[in-house]
Amino acid sequence: MKVGVIGAGQLGQMLALAGHPLALEFLFLDSSPDSPGARVGPIITGKFDDPASLSKLAADTELVTYEFENVPVSALEKVSRTRTCLPPIEALRVSQDRMLEKELFQRLGIPTPPFRSVDSLDELHAAVAAVGLPCVLKTRRLGYDGRGQQYLRRRADIDTAWAALGGAPLILEGFVKFDREVSIIGARSTRGETRCYPLAENQHRDGILRVTRAPHRNARLQRAAERHLRRLLDHFGYAGVLTIEFFVQRGKLIANEVAPRVHNSGHWTIEGAVTSQFENHLRAILGLPLGDTSAIGHAAMVNYIGTMPDRERVLAIPGAHHHDYGKSPRAGRKLGHGTVVSTTAAGRDRLLRRLLRHVPR
Ligand code: AMP
Repeated sequence: MKVGVIGAGQLGQMLALAGHPLALEFLFLDSSPDSPGARVGPIITGKFDDPASLSKLAADTELVTYEFENVPVSALEKVSRTRTCLPPIEALRVSQDRMLEKELFQRLGIPTPPFRSVDSLDELHAAVAAVGLPCVLKTRRLGYDGRGQQYLRRRADIDTAWAALGGAPLILEGFVKFDREVSIIGARSTRGETRCYPLAENQHRDGILRVTRAPHRNARLQRAAERHLRRLLDHFGYAGVLTIEFFVQRGKLIANEVAPRVHNSGHWTIEGAVTSQFENHLRAILGLPLGDTSAIGHAAMVNYIGTMPDRERVLAIPGAHHHDYGKSPRAGRKLGHGTVVSTTAAGRDRLLRRLLRHVPR
């Protein structure tokens, strides 16, 4: 069976690596022929909204999925006329717009920071008055890894933030003085079976994920996160893997965003869980039984950003695994990641410190 994947980045690459043992073949669509997916499957080179490329992808595969959320909804609508396309397009549409995302969280009883939509300087002044300082102004669409965001600490920052982002549809959010950031990943299959991974704790720098530790053991937060995740999965009649990122403030979860796809904070599941998020995504969209989502011991994942560490040094660390996506180095670019797994949390943290010594900052 051949699965079509819109996007051939590292997430697509890791999906294919997980799917090969299940006798799946992959065909990617990407604008760049030398994307990471090219190492594990053929690529149709074309824009994501190019009708001819989309028709070819639909014609040559039996099922289509996507690996990043800035795929135009119109592209998926086109593909879905002739091919099943999962996760559902509605989940993609909501996740592409921070305002729709937050409104849905609110409707489903999932706590969020205070927020207001902003389309003019006057609205920004009113939103700052309503939300309070400090706050964060973000573009509603096409922001990721901290791009398209301005922090406002005092009223004098309003004009600077507006000059930087004004013109595009915006959302103003209250700044959450969080104790930590966590994410939950879950899978729901076309048969309605649902499984959740343990919470992962995530550290970001400059808006980019640097380190994930999992499992983040907190039974109360785990129950709350699973409740929120299941509400979203059921709301969308979802199939595939879905991720919610939360802030934790004074023991409470506050939802930041949702991703209708496999997620960077789930890379630890490749070696740190019984079944990886990538395999479970494929099982879910194919209607196969889902795999066990339990953690095997304690894992930490470190993103390699801008520069790769020396492979030999990483592999000399016991329990360490090295993933090189094969991308050319560029500042701020995710080039690969490393994962360490240990039987104890303290052992994992020791291995993590060793790994971090080899990862250029
Ligand atoms: P995002 O692109 O929304 O995931 O934001 C990237 C990172 O910026 C988050 O993981 C947080 O570390 C930080 N951030 C975003 N929004 C807020 C907020 N409302 N309050 C505090 N920190 C935030």
